[in-house]
Parts: sequence; C-alpha cells; structure tokens
Amino acid sequence: MTDCIFCKIARGEIPCRKVYEDDEVLAFHDINPVAPVHFMLIPKLHLASLAEADATHAALLGRMLLLASRLAKEQGLENGFRTVINTGSGGGQEVFHLHIHIIGGGNIPPMVRRS
Ligand code: 5GP
Ligand code: ZN
Repeated sequence: MTDCIFCKIARGEIPCRKVYEDDEVLAFHDINPVAPVHFMLIPKLHLASLAEADATHAALLGRMLLLASRLAKEQGLENGFRTVINTGSGGGQEVFHLHIHIIGGGNIPPMVRRS
C-alpha cells in the first residue's frame, strides 16, 4: 500500500522510534502515548485490520502475540501489560493497518468502566 502510514513507517519512509524489527514485523513507540510505555507491533505485510486476517495469517498472528509478550518484558513491563487491537470503525480503529498496541507502566485503569 503506497499511502498507508504504517506501510511507510515499515519501509523507512517515515521515521519512528523503533523497538524491534525482523523480516516480518516492526515494533515502534506510539507517537501519542497513553501510558509511560506504549508501542505498537505491526506486520510488514499490509493487512487493513484483524477482520481481514484469515487462516493464511495464523502463524504470523501467533508470532506477533508471543513477540508482544517478549518485547513488553524487554521494555520493563515485568508486572504485566495491556494489549489492544482496535478493529474497524466499530472498534475505534484510526490507522487501517493491523497493529497491536502494547501499553503499560504507571496506573493502568480497568479497560471498561461499569457504573
Ligand atoms: P488505532 O486507533 O488505529 O488503534 O491506533 C493508531 C495509533 O497510531 C494511535 O495511537 C496513534 O497515536 C498512532 N499513530 C498515528 N500516526 C502515527 C505515526 O506517524 N507514528 C507513530 N509512531 N504513531 C502513530
Ligand atoms: Zn499498510
């Protein structure tokens, strides 16, 4: 995808604060963090959202989840972390290239407040 912002970051056309990179994935700090540690893990392959993933992506998605946990610990989140995947407009997704948010440090409130 030529005009996708995360594809441009993956290609090095837009700078990022890199956390990790290999042939298949890239992790980088969120430009507008919601917690002391907030980075994203993306596949280099353009997938608009989790809703576009299918069985051919199972190994990639599995790798990404395991990597999310490893990178969270390497970023100092020894006590745990939050992973968020916003999917589609109904899920509040703003950048339409699949990404896992990894968030932690400080005070992480319950994700959904119930009255
Ligand atoms: P979404 O709402 O789609 O799940 O999350 C998109 C995230 O991408 C937001 O947290 C936003 O701060 C982050 N973001 C948007 N543009 C950029 C960018 O150019 N660089 C970085 N590092 N993060 C970005
Ligand atoms: Zn993309």
